[in-house]
Formats: sequence, structure tokens, C-alpha cells
Amino acid sequence: MSEKEALLENIEKNIKVCQKCRLCKYAKNAVPGEGNINTEIVFAGEAPGEVEDATGRPFVGRAGKLLESLLGEIGYKRTDVWIGNIIKHRPPENRDPFPDEIEACQPYLNMQLKIIAPKLIVTLGRFSMNHFYKDGKISRDHGHIFRSQGYNIFPVYHPAAALRNPEMAMALKRDFVKIPEVLDKVKNNKIDMFTEANNQNSKNLKPKGQLGLDL
Ligand code: URA
Repeated sequence: MSEKEALLENIEKNIKVCQKCRLCKYAKNAVPGEGNINTEIVFAGEAPGEVEDATGRPFVGRAGKLLESLLGEIGYKRTDVWIGNIIKHRPPENRDPFPDEIEACQPYLNMQLKIIAPKLIVTLGRFSMNHFYKDGKISRDHGHIFRSQGYNIFPVYHPAAALRNPEMAMALKRDFVKIPEVLDKVKNNKIDMFTEANNQNSKNLKPKGQLGLDL
């Protein structure tokens, strides 16, 4: 086992016994995340849903099927990338996670990302985007690349939202097909303007179109 695998396995063990917030009381299984730990791209969602809770695996329900189909359109299988969530236990009835639950859980994703060290993090939905950019607005910022915490972040709509809303579905697809180009630019340092998302002082935030690079 590589050092990377061992470190990630250790984090998973901790996630599986985590009682740092109330969510573990309602959930059947923790969902630590899974996939290729040597990937260049990580997909980060919000929290497990019903099927994920039952199986302990991320994005295996309807939203997961859409994610897999979008991945297929850009030439990836789900096993090529790593897929995880901010929140590791399912919130009851799929309610939004509470701030204290996010606060308790986010160190796990932070540690996982530090070890995987992806070139690009595609955030799925607003909760995941807000983990990297507190004042981000998904309707404004999706499809724009920005830097946060040393990572290159590309926010897109959540696949579950796209299943409910045809306009979001179209925007998600449009953003998704940009991913190979975004990755290429990030890897080859071809992006000359990044904006660092500033989580401390929202007065410094740039208006629409200036948050990151318009592709
Ligand atoms: N929605 C998420 O945000 N994550 C999952 O794992 C499944 C659905």
C-alpha cells in the first residue's frame, strides 16, 4: 500500500466512526468518498442522499447517474476521478446541512484533498462551492475558474438541481464540456488571470465576470 493510500484509509476509518455532529445518529453509513486517488480532477458534492447512505458510496443515485453520463461525455469513467462530499453522513430527509455540521465535517474533505492534491476541483452545487468561496453565488459563479486555498476551483450546478430544472441542466452540460479545456489550461499555466476568492472580506469580491476566467 502506498503512503497516499494508507493516509486516506486512515481518514476513512475516522470518518466511519465520527460522532462530531448529530448526523451520525440518523445515517446508516458514512460516505467518505471514492475513486482514483492519483486523479487530476476531484468532484466534490454536498452530502449523501438515500442511496449513498444505504451503500456508503458517493453519487450512486439519480444524481450520480447524471454525473456519470456527463463524465462519459468528456471521456471519463467515474473510476478515473475521485468523487466525494463536504458532508460525510446523510442529513435526515436530505435537508440542507446546518452550519455546525459543515464546520464539523469539512476538515475531512480538506485532509483528503491535501493528500490527493488534484490539479482541479469541480464543485457540484452551492454548498461545495461555498466551502472554497464563502460569498460565492452559484448562479453567478458557475463555469468560472477561481483559486482558493491553493486549489483551482471550477464550480458547476449540482446534478440533482439539474434533474429538477432544465435550464440548470443545460448550464451544467455547458460547464461540464469546458472541463478538459480548463484542466489543460490549469496544467499548462495558460491561465493568466486567476482571482483568489477572499473568504474574509466580502468587500473585496469582484462582480460578475471578474471572479475568474470566462472561457
Ligand atoms: N448528492 C451529493 O451531493 N452527494 C452525493 O453523494 C449524492 C447526491
